[in-house]
Amino acid sequence: MAQIIDGKAIAAKVRQEVSQAVESLKERGVEIGLHVVLVGDDPASHVYVRNKERAAAEVGILSTTHRLPQDATESEVLTLLASLNSHAGVDGVLVQLPVPPHIDTNRMTDAQDPARDVDGFHPVNLGMLVSDRPGLLACTPAGCLRLIDETGTDLKGKRAVVVGRSLIVGKPMAHLLLQRHATVTVCHSRTQDLPARIAEADVLVAAIGRADMIQGDWIKEGAVVIDVGMNRNAQGKLTGDVDFESASKKASFITPVPGGVGPMTIAYLMRNTVIAACARRGLPFPF
Ligand code: NDP
Repeated sequence: MAQIIDGKAIAAKVRQEVSQAVESLKERGVEIGLHVVLVGDDPASHVYVRNKERAAAEVGILSTTHRLPQDATESEVLTLLASLNSHAGVDGVLVQLPVPPHIDTNRMTDAQDPARDVDGFHPVNLGMLVSDRPGLLACTPAGCLRLIDETGTDLKGKRAVVVGRSLIVGKPMAHLLLQRHATVTVCHSRTQDLPARIAEADVLVAAIGRADMIQGDWIKEGAVVIDVGMNRNAQGKLTGDVDFESASKKASFITPVPGGVGPMTIAYLMRNTVIAACARRGLPFPF
């Protein structure tokens, strides 16, 4: 039976590390400011933003949420981003996604200052990752890597399989695993014989968005399984991309949903905000 990777407890540890860093920066007169831009009425986005505000308050980061109406124009959001980019007290900026359909997501991302892009979605930060150079890392994959590290797994030479190739999860995850010298396979909706690819994985990261799709009998005995998926199943219950019950009979370690990757994403957002604040001010990194 697999050991559960307790994302809640590990995220609390990360927030504790961040909180100590924030405290020591305060002693040097540095107040860290995170700005969240929330456009429209998407109920899930409002919940995510409240969770971010709560996490920021817990670690001592000053957070400000800019709430814009559903019919805000693209140029109104761009004007706000330009003003945040030029404000000395702003360390981190993120635009909560999804934005309403009349707003171009790429234009929002591109308008951000890469040095303040605490989501790590800006092409400059993604390019830095691919170039093995320091930049702000996307929070979810960075959090997943920490979960793998907490199991004590040495990734060098291991077969890692990432299912999903989105810019915010799958692709950056694959590059982080490559940086750790894993042999990485990236699967997607056109992959042939997905169960056979998954059967090769010493480490499996599932970021698909399909409730309970990955079955236990696809998984290699002893694999480390990280389930990024956040889906509602037919009963309306929050569930991952991996069928937890069957997969936990094969895996050595597995993340639950909820309580696995989700809490790590927000904890790493806070961590990124501290890293951005230090980098912009030329201060040494606390982590
Ligand atoms: P996207 O929809 O952007 O990407 C999904 C990926 O899965 C695509 O690359 C797609 O392939 C692939 N895919 C879809 N169907 C299949 C299939 N049948 N077989 C193999 N691959 C398939 O999603 P995200 O990356 O944004 O998110 C993935 C999941 O992670 C979602 O459930 C999301 O809610 C969750 N999530 C959770 C976070 C957290 O903090 N816990 C943070 C971010 C996301 P193709 O490219 O070919 O279309």
